[in-house]
Amino acid sequence: MSKYNKLPLTTLHSLLVNKEVSASQLVEDAISSMKEDPCFCFEVTCFEKARKQASKITEVKKEEFLKGIPFVCKDNFSHKGVKTTASSKILEDYVPLFDASVLQKLKKEGMILLAHTTMDELAMGGKGVSKNGITRNPYDLERIVGGSSSGSAASLALGMIPFALGSDTGDSIRLPASYTQTVGFKPTYGLISRYGLFPFAPSLDCVSYLTRNVLDASYMLSTLAFYDEKDFTCSHHKREKYQDYILQGRKKKRIGYLKEMLDNISSNTIREQFVSLLSVLEKRGYEIHSFSFGKELLENIYPCYMILSSAEALSNDATLDGIRFGPNRAKDARNYIEYMKKNRSIGFSSHIKKRFLLGSLSLDKNYRSTLFDYESKVRRLLVNRMEEFYQENDFLLMPSSFSAPEKIEDLNLNISSDRNFMNHLLTLANLGGYPSLTLPFMKEGNMPLGINITAPLYQDGYVFSLGQEIEDITKIKDCVVEVAR
Ligand code: GLN
Repeated sequence: MSKYNKLPLTTLHSLLVNKEVSASQLVEDAISSMKEDPCFCFEVTCFEKARKQASKITEVKKEEFLKGIPFVCKDNFSHKGVKTTASSKILEDYVPLFDASVLQKLKKEGMILLAHTTMDELAMGGKGVSKNGITRNPYDLERIVGGSSSGSAASLALGMIPFALGSDTGDSIRLPASYTQTVGFKPTYGLISRYGLFPFAPSLDCVSYLTRNVLDASYMLSTLAFYDEKDFTCSHHKREKYQDYILQGRKKKRIGYLKEMLDNISSNTIREQFVSLLSVLEKRGYEIHSFSFGKELLENIYPCYMILSSAEALSNDATLDGIRFGPNRAKDARNYIEYMKKNRSIGFSSHIKKRFLLGSLSLDKNYRSTLFDYESKVRRLLVNRMEEFYQENDFLLMPSSFSAPEKIEDLNLNISSDRNFMNHLLTLANLGGYPSLTLPFMKEGNMPLGINITAPLYQDGYVFSLGQEIEDITKIKDCVVEVAR
């Protein structure tokens, strides 16, 4: 266990300012804990580069909030000069020529990148399956940590680093956060530049991240949310000092929950704890409202997400032809098509191929109207219903998951046909582009489980202030877990 990096960002910053610790010490502290990784958190490390950067930092000023602090990022951010594969064989030996805009920004702020974390291949999945193995849950090594930002969540929960970058297309930050008692935040779509983030489904993808507490998450958004002309989907909306919503106690009061969600929680403990949280919030002056969304509509979240995201993935990943990098095992191929076919056959796992099949089917001229076009309309209906929800409520509140993460021995990697909306509610935030925060909530047995707050577009600051209120109620924050060896 690290000595320092298990602490939150605000504490590390004060220690650095007061010279109670140096950037180099923080880096060594992180490296030594990362070397004892019990969960398979990392695809690649860049310790020497980090050591060099740290050695140049001799002092940290009060206004240099992030300077000298170590972090890790998911293996799908372009990182100049360091192998970056999105945990896929098709990107074997790919060394990017440029830094993603967020990496560039964090470097400029003086943060020190130590490693790329494991993920579901190309960010498609929620189980933590990389080309090199499965990431384990530090709370129970026999279970998955969830994904696709798997190593980011596990390494933060293990106290190795205080901040981890990831991405969220369907729930990929907020689900592993739920399973690891960490804070996971997906901002409003377009607020953080995606230049250099490997695309999965660009109408849904968001750069997202994990921290130890809600205040740290709010500070990080103030740094990461800047307009970037290199990302044409980057929003022009004004950026704010998001921590001020917490520090100045700026609040909105109307909390809504979905009636169908409450009716379908099978665990009594989870239902009781959720209801009791609602009543504490009510006592603190919040209004609590139930909202009937419509079961049939909710059951459409998953097919809608799968059809649209697979179609987008198919198009984006067409660039992964295996020519300049990749498994490169088709030397006997007679032409470009044959070479590409062979490399793509070897380079993608069967799970990815199934997603591509689904994507091609949904765009095929014979099926497009009943699949891609149909689901695009369903997306509109779901978002319209969310907008109706927001007429009456400022926030949507719900548990982030409703059962323990799967046991590794029970893993099934087929594309699920499970329309049970209880497993897909987090995806509503991606379909509408809404800001969405998961923070620690409770434990069922040994396993943690988070609570999720989602709000209308650009209400990120209010999400943090409600998150802070809930953190004050549960008093669960800054958690780290020690794995018994
Ligand atoms: N689990 C979802 C999927 O398999 C979400 C992935 C993500 O958010 N990157 O597609």
